[in-house]
Amino acid sequence: MATDRGRGAERVFVVQKHRASRLHFDFRLQIGDTMKSWAVPKGPSLDPSVRRLAVEVDDHPLSYNDFEGRIESGYGKGTVLLWDRGSLEPASPADRADAALARGYRAGRIDFVLRGERLRGAWRLVRMAGDEERPQWLLSKVDDEHADPELDPVQRYDTSVSSGRTLKEIAGE
Ligand code: MN
Repeated sequence: MATDRGRGAERVFVVQKHRASRLHFDFRLQIGDTMKSWAVPKGPSLDPSVRRLAVEVDDHPLSYNDFEGRIESGYGKGTVLLWDRGSLEPASPADRADAALARGYRAGRIDFVLRGERLRGAWRLVRMAGDEERPQWLLSKVDDEHADPELDPVQRYDTSVSSGRTLKEIAGE
């Protein structure tokens, strides 16, 4: 239920691989009742020493989380593949997880834990200085048992977690 925002309500994340004018990964975290969104050109890295540019983009509705397919026109024209999905929690246990995540977002530092099919463990998003229309953040893997400098998830996984298809198959090429 949309009104059930108390402790115990599960928050979600999704990553959509999006081949538009440029290939990027749309990294979306549920904060409150919306999906805060970042476009990550190089995609996530499991190497804790690597920080990836994550450009904040428009919020998306939760109803978009399952989307996979072709965008025929307009902004984002191209093909979308559902690359990962799972649950999201703040890194520190909190009575009100939503409030903790929203506080981190406002402060420009979000420490969170993912339980997805491909991305797991602790992650961090840090907003860089500047107050632009499209704030730039850095996404990084926090060093834990799920970190792995040897495994490049972008190279390793090129299929959809929902349909098993590749971008080319979704595009009908
Ligand atoms: Mn996109």
